[in-house]
Amino acid sequence: MRYAETGFNLEIDLSRGSIERVATDPGLTELHLGGLGTNAKILWDRVPPEIEPFSPDNILIFSTGLLCGTPAIGANRTIVSTISPQTLFMAYSMMGGFWAPELKYAGYDKVIFRGKSPNLVYLWINNDNVEIRDASHLQGKGAVETEDLIRQELKEPKAQVAAIGLAGENRVYMASIEHGRSSASRLGIGAVMGDKGLKAIAVRGTKDVNIARPAEFMELCNEVLKYIPVRDQNPVPGVMPILAGLGSPKEMAIHDEEWHTENFMWGNSRVRRKGFWNEEIEKKWTESMENVRTRLISCYNCPMKCGAIISVPGVSTYMMKCFSKLTYTMAAFSDLDFGFRIAQRATEYGVDAFSTPQVMAFALELYEAGILTDQDMPGMPSDNEGRFYWLLDRIVRREGIGDVLADGTHWAAQQIGNGAEEYAHNNIKKHEQLPLKLSMLNPIYFLMYCTGEKANITQIEGNFPQAPFATREEREEFVKDWIQVPDEKFKEYVLNWEPRGENSMPYYPTIEATCEIVDWQEMMHYIDDAVGMCAGLSSFPLKPPYHIHNYPAFISSATGIDMDEAELSQIAKRNRTLLRAFNVRRGLRRADERPPEDHWKKRFPELEAQLLDAYYKFKGWNKEGIPTKESLQELDLDYVSEDLIQRGILTDDEATPSKEISAEKERK
Ligand code: SF4
Repeated sequence: MRYAETGFNLEIDLSRGSIERVATDPGLTELHLGGLGTNAKILWDRVPPEIEPFSPDNILIFSTGLLCGTPAIGANRTIVSTISPQTLFMAYSMMGGFWAPELKYAGYDKVIFRGKSPNLVYLWINNDNVEIRDASHLQGKGAVETEDLIRQELKEPKAQVAAIGLAGENRVYMASIEHGRSSASRLGIGAVMGDKGLKAIAVRGTKDVNIARPAEFMELCNEVLKYIPVRDQNPVPGVMPILAGLGSPKEMAIHDEEWHTENFMWGNSRVRRKGFWNEEIEKKWTESMENVRTRLISCYNCPMKCGAIISVPGVSTYMMKCFSKLTYTMAAFSDLDFGFRIAQRATEYGVDAFSTPQVMAFALELYEAGILTDQDMPGMPSDNEGRFYWLLDRIVRREGIGDVLADGTHWAAQQIGNGAEEYAHNNIKKHEQLPLKLSMLNPIYFLMYCTGEKANITQIEGNFPQAPFATREEREEFVKDWIQVPDEKFKEYVLNWEPRGENSMPYYPTIEATCEIVDWQEMMHYIDDAVGMCAGLSSFPLKPPYHIHNYPAFISSATGIDMDEAELSQIAKRNRTLLRAFNVRRGLRRADERPPEDHWKKRFPELEAQLLDAYYKFKGWNKEGIPTKESLQELDLDYVSEDLIQRGILTDDEATPSKEISAEKERK
């Protein structure tokens, strides 16, 4: 019997219209757990580097995590993996909600799509009955509207639906996959879904998921349930509100936006508005939010209520989560009312709320600079908010200048030329980042920004404080109940970290400590992404209920696989290294690993080079960031080293790359 997982994947060939139920190899679960780990293995095996994102041979995987569908609180992530049209590397976006547990209950761990359907279709999974259905009547429909229409036509109100909107259908690089209160948004995975002619996947499942040692497992779940309210009632003092408690930034619950509005940048990540937040704005924004926020909502099996139902008069009700509350508002230098209104349309279109507002602000900056002209923007309204709607409508339809902008700021700037590249200033690996510009280089964030495989900082940062506490007393107070640390030395790093002086950034934490901190944070994310845990209860907050000390028991009692901390760390390292190797095979090199030029005002080229050198070494990678033959073999990834050697990326006897391939290759 298989525990925690179902032991079956669905393989769908959209070109042939075939559906197969395929038993999976339990050995792979022991090596990679599931979720992102096994997704990476499947992508490695089936998608050689020659395959382009919009090739029928690119695959699109919707995966549950290993613990999804079990009673583990917050284990509800769907991990969607494919090749990103924007970065040309692996994309792995995740969404919360209810979809992954429902897929488990239907009897499957993953749905793997290949090929392309000649007509728009959707997949209907109803336990053992799986069918590809015509979706031509859903063409052009909004993502949320599609979810409702599918539930109605199936007469199955409990079906969980993930759908794309117009942006995905038109292969817009910022296209998301929407699922009620959540979305898998980053890196253009909605565009790949649209390219495959797949409008939606609806799932209904009523089967059980087996647990190896249920009594032990339930005991652990109850401990998490007991811990959550304790932490909620005792927020960590001295840190910003979204880090003080638990959850996946509980933006929908808070009104105090001083930190975001004064520290994040407005426009196309351009202008910092110090002193913006005052009593009048707070009152107005609180009213705006109270007027539209109908109620707070949670994902499957989680008490945290990070999302909200939003009802703006005159537009359909939708659900919002996280920082999208502010991204449109701040990109347009507008107010919260505007943000809530345009976010409804953007959600129906199905676009990423981090990249899209920046792309629109980028277009307006180019227009103000005379790089784009009235000829490029025929009929664009004169008012600021009208311009944002106008641009959004054109981007998702790929109309006129919208067709260029739909590829994101990096590729659009290359097409526009005439100095436009200077305005695409907030990218890592061609992908728009959080609109954040800071002063002093933070060595921890430098490494995370440079080397994170996801090219998305929010999925890398985590359990270590983002900045030093002001006083020794605060530091001592913080480390007192910091049980999540894998080693006591991390407490020392916090205790000695000062805002100014010898032990301050950029030279403290030391290079060695920085490598260890980044490695720890990364390990936690890779565990979460393999088991399907929400980062808001594990790798993101400072003092979460899940950590390296209790995770092995969770996984072991759920699956029956023997596991201790060292073994779990090794699996996380294996998954992380496999992802790196996959991207290396697609051309990723050290030259690609850099933050936006102006992310920090104060830069230290020598220190930055040392940090990269040290981190690569720490991870078992060579100076180009390529995993060495020895480190691959230690992780049972011999087949990876053989492939890299065969392709001339590694040499047989030593670790240096023998062939340079730049990821800065031009789009064909
Ligand atoms: S912490 Fe928030 S985002 Fe995470 S599962 Fe719970 S409700 Fe969803």
